[in-house]
Amino acid sequence: MRCLITGGAGFIGSHLAEELLRAGHAVTVIDDLSTGNLANIAHLESEARFRFVLDTVLNRRLMAELVEWADVIFHLAAAVGVKLVVEEPIRAMETNVRATEVVLEMAAARGKKVLFASTSEVYGKTSKVPFREDDDLVLGATWRPRWGYACSKALGEFLALAYWRTYGVPVVIVRLFNTVGPRQTNRYGMVIPTFVRQALRGEPITVHGDGRQTRSFCWVGDVVRALAALAEHPEAVGQVFNVGSDEEVRIVDVAWRIKALTGSPSEVVFVPYDRIYGEDFEDMPRRVPDLTKIRTLIGYRPMVRLEEILKRVIAHHRRLMESELRDRREERRPQLFSTR
Ligand code: UDP
Repeated sequence: MRCLITGGAGFIGSHLAEELLRAGHAVTVIDDLSTGNLANIAHLESEARFRFVLDTVLNRRLMAELVEWADVIFHLAAAVGVKLVVEEPIRAMETNVRATEVVLEMAAARGKKVLFASTSEVYGKTSKVPFREDDDLVLGATWRPRWGYACSKALGEFLALAYWRTYGVPVVIVRLFNTVGPRQTNRYGMVIPTFVRQALRGEPITVHGDGRQTRSFCWVGDVVRALAALAEHPEAVGQVFNVGSDEEVRIVDVAWRIKALTGSPSEVVFVPYDRIYGEDFEDMPRRVPDLTKIRTLIGYRPMVRLEEILKRVIAHHRRLMESELRDRREERRPQLFSTR
């Protein structure tokens, strides 16, 4: 297959590129590096079946060419992370909606398949867990910026399904739950890399609210394997799937687990939500997927348990922080020779 990944220099996109290359497919990544990073795909540059294009999905002329080349488009390009969405709501909503329109329009004109990466955010603040794909969405008021992200992704789902019904564009929608692994940065506030780096530095581990909110974290390798399999399965077309892990955990327990596994002297502290995200913030109390649908279709089961995920992420950040420290030392070392 020829696979186009929008947002392929991001955390999940770069792992997906690896997975597809490993399976023998050709991969083109388009990314504007707004939140993606060249370092995420540097190791793929030497692969003959890999190509990277630095540009935005909103460049219609270029996208027409890339979509023409591809058999399937994995549309992952989006403004992600609650922190980014709260801080830059216009960019987040506009990027998400416009980019999705371009991808669907181009795919419709050329009869190509689209896998649209949506999010578990669309379930909103419902307390009916686990979340099933056909559940109602329970979103908060429009003056709470957080829900703008969920709405922009929900609109993407509506659009994708409308293109399927109206023009027969084969679309597959995946709702990604919290995904974790190497290359996920703490820059956009994601909880596990944030806690791990705080613990490794001996800084306070900052639990938001009372920490009783829950999430279920999935290893990125499990997620991208599911995406690749769904893109190839004919019966996935026109359907929505939860992708993630159903091992539910309280955020405060994640903090304590990370403290124990790192042997860190860090204190676990509780920070009110409004200090981080402003007055109008509302969190999701629980978030757990029902995985029956994806399990039934492709036999999907997450393979890596939370304990192992945490160990791997800790090992990754230890290595990363050591090399960051080395780089800083190099910079500080006095220059012995003039570079003139
Ligand atoms: N969180 C936290 N401390 C942090 C970062 C996040 O307690 O330093 C909490 C956050 O408020 C949320 C959960 O961890 O309840 C997961 O946050 P994340 O941004 O990783 O993903 P979300 O599930 O909210 O999209």
